[in-house]
Amino acid sequence: MNLAPNPASRFRSSASRAAILSLFLFLIACATKPTELSSGDRPARIREIMQDGPSIVVLGIAQDGGVPQAGNFDDARWDDLSLQRSVVSLGIIDPRSGKRWMIDATPDFRRQLLTLQRVAHGAARPVVDGIFLTHAHMGHYTGLMFLGHESIGAKSVPTYAMPKMAEFLRTNGPWSQLVAYKNIELLPLTAGSPVELAPDLHVTPFLVPHRQEFSEVVGFRIAGPSRSALWLPDIDSWREWDAMGTRLEDAIASVDIAYLDGTFFANGEIPGRDMSGFPHPFISHTIERLAPLPASQRAKVRFIHFNHTNPALAPNSAARRAIEAAGMRVAEEGEIEALFSSRETGRAVRAGQ
Ligand SMILES: [Zn+2]
Ligand SMILES: [Zn+2]
Repeated sequence: MNLAPNPASRFRSSASRAAILSLFLFLIACATKPTELSSGDRPARIREIMQDGPSIVVLGIAQDGGVPQAGNFDDARWDDLSLQRSVVSLGIIDPRSGKRWMIDATPDFRRQLLTLQRVAHGAARPVVDGIFLTHAHMGHYTGLMFLGHESIGAKSVPTYAMPKMAEFLRTNGPWSQLVAYKNIELLPLTAGSPVELAPDLHVTPFLVPHRQEFSEVVGFRIAGPSRSALWLPDIDSWREWDAMGTRLEDAIASVDIAYLDGTFFANGEIPGRDMSGFPHPFISHTIERLAPLPASQRAKVRFIHFNHTNPALAPNSAARRAIEAAGMRVAEEGEIEALFSSRETGRAVRAGQ
């Protein structure tokens, strides 16, 4: 597993490729009615990229409750699909085997499965080749319900879970029914032990300090042939991670791309509430902490898991500008990163961004 930091040159983008990807993913993102694209409809460039080697694709960047959030009837984003965001999830694709996996099964599983199918350019099949679960909070596992007999009626989808998470699913309805009916097959995860998806493609869970009412909480390191990524949607604080023996700076140095918890931008973003005790690091604090790092390290950071209140969701906000001025950025739904070469595979831009 190559976890050595790669040179900044690997982040150079190809404008034409990004433009084609942007168009393609814009079409996916904006489709109100799914329409099947045949392989002949796909831009040749995407086909070429996806045939080269393993890649990851961001399937959602919202916090568990989604953007906008239930009950927020006055949120103007209800009337603009391009401003809505799916709950946080990452797809992993290996075109060499035709396989694809998901990190977490979210309430937005239906559309995320469709996006993964289209981006993976794989043979039509109803489900993924595996799901890696981070923890038992509503945004991260409840999408498993779509694998049950009321919907897909999937057969033995490999579902990777830490011991308590697996026990939670095994012993609590309705999830226990997915196990009993063999819609899912629970496979054990051990912190620090890589799961091999291919000889040069591994997913490794690591423990994270975060509220653990029902399960452990993990993030994942995804390592491909020559590039790697960190996926860390939920953490209570960087300081608690320090206390567990992992420094954020070291974690960033060990990968090429670091997707980090960006739930809230700063204290005060929820009117009338003191948020200082909220169990997430504010983006403003993360920026401050990482300020001493070289630009090449800061450039790896992409924030995910946005609460609906987070002002950085708006592309022209001061919060967004502050993130960009710090040399970091907001992850975008549909962005694809290769894990196999020095070529950056593209950055998708949804409408409104
Ligand atoms: Zn969450
Ligand atoms: Zn959580």
